[in-house]
Amino acid sequence: MAAENTKLNKERKDHAVASVLNDVGNTLQFMADAGCRGFECDASHHDMVHNWGDHGLDRPESLNDIRRELKDCRRCGLSSKRTQIVFGAGCEQARLVFVGEGPGYEEDKQGKPFVGAAGKLLNRILEAMHLSREDIYICNIVKCRPPNNRNPKPEEISTCVPFLERQIRAIKPEFICALGKFAAQTLLQAEKPISRLRGQFHEYQGIPVMPTYHPAYLLRNPGSKRDVWNDMQQLMKRLGL
Ligand code: URA
Repeated sequence: MAAENTKLNKERKDHAVASVLNDVGNTLQFMADAGCRGFECDASHHDMVHNWGDHGLDRPESLNDIRRELKDCRRCGLSSKRTQIVFGAGCEQARLVFVGEGPGYEEDKQGKPFVGAAGKLLNRILEAMHLSREDIYICNIVKCRPPNNRNPKPEEISTCVPFLERQIRAIKPEFICALGKFAAQTLLQAEKPISRLRGQFHEYQGIPVMPTYHPAYLLRNPGSKRDVWNDMQQLMKRLGL
């Protein structure tokens, strides 16, 4: 466990340093483009630079820290067409985290996950589980809407997923429910179809993961609701609900 924490801290530190270097590079480029050819630099500046990116690395990272670092993210092409980032919503201490695919039209407009038609169905599933949105946390594999709700591309997923991983690490849920193929295959690094992944627990970083069909799929294939209910009942049993 101690070795694992050391590894996680190193990953966070590397990520923070890379992010700071990226910001510094962008700022210097901006200054150079504006005609600046140099600036004052003394020992106090050296100390300040030395401490960049080092704040708070000894305490657990919060969801706010992660959201702050994302800022107005431009790390992938999805940023150019989105209205806003859909970071995630719900309880920071949730025992259960739901992971979807990516924001749709309504989510992009409102900045919240699962607020469209699929979200309404998810609310009914939660109600049947005796849970509310305040009890759980919901987020997505990608945080910006793919244009016309197309599938997220592998490079968009690989750019965005480190932030999801950090969200999960911050929340430390007891269980994860992966909604649909993209969430299940990404978290489990699997290639099997969702029809073969669902119905049993898998593991992500030691956390039991139950993959199930995406609510949007259920809207088109209501016959699969029975399978989803079966998957949710397995989760409820493990949660003691
Ligand atoms: N579908 C998703 O996968 N995520 C959302 O937030 C909304 C719809």
